[in-house]
Amino acid sequence: MDRVLIAGVPGAGKTTVINKLKDYVSNLNIVNYGTVMFEIAKEKYSVESRDQLRKLSPEVQRELQKLAAEKIYKMEGDLVIDTHLAIKTPKGYMPGFPAELLSLINPDILVLITAQPEEIWERRRRDEARTRDMDSLIDIIQHERVNNAYLMAYSAISGSYALIVRNEEGKPEEAAKRIARLFE
Ligand code: ATP
Ligand code: MG
Repeated sequence: MDRVLIAGVPGAGKTTVINKLKDYVSNLNIVNYGTVMFEIAKEKYSVESRDQLRKLSPEVQRELQKLAAEKIYKMEGDLVIDTHLAIKTPKGYMPGFPAELLSLINPDILVLITAQPEEIWERRRRDEARTRDMDSLIDIIQHERVNNAYLMAYSAISGSYALIVRNEEGKPEEAAKRIARLFE
């Protein structure tokens, strides 16, 4: 049974690739970390949309992050966690997995989904399903760098493998096939 954490900057295509992954891996359990946080936030803080989460105070975000981890770590079987390594907050980047949460979730493999900054920018602009931050290209590049740094830090702390997968424009199934190999 493998536990794979999938991360990437907003708009890199995590959710899209994970949806394709269902075609290649049977009996896969998928959980979206932000959705679990949102469900808790709806009950506790009357938050109305997912995209409001990252606008909450960092203290509240940390609390929701911990409560979500306490639900997710109990999930069984081959599990894919759709999540973030670094969340942009008004106080600065917030680690998606502070050490205690990383050891609770205990992933086998960390996957970072990447794409060209211009592609990410354009995907955010086109995506009408979400209220997206239209960061500049420089901001997206910086967020990518921060994610890469966290990827290796988390890998070193937890002993998990770190895999970087490119989600090429128009070919999310190629990225899904690469990730599917992890479950063979
Ligand atoms: P978030 O972290 O905000 O949830 P995400 O990484 O899950 O973002 P998606 O919602 O999967 O990103 O994708 C963002 C947008 O980019 C969507 O409109 C999606 O259709 C599009 N997209 C994803 N992958 C590709 C691709 N390979 N080629 C073209 N468009 C893509
Ligand atoms: Mg998503």
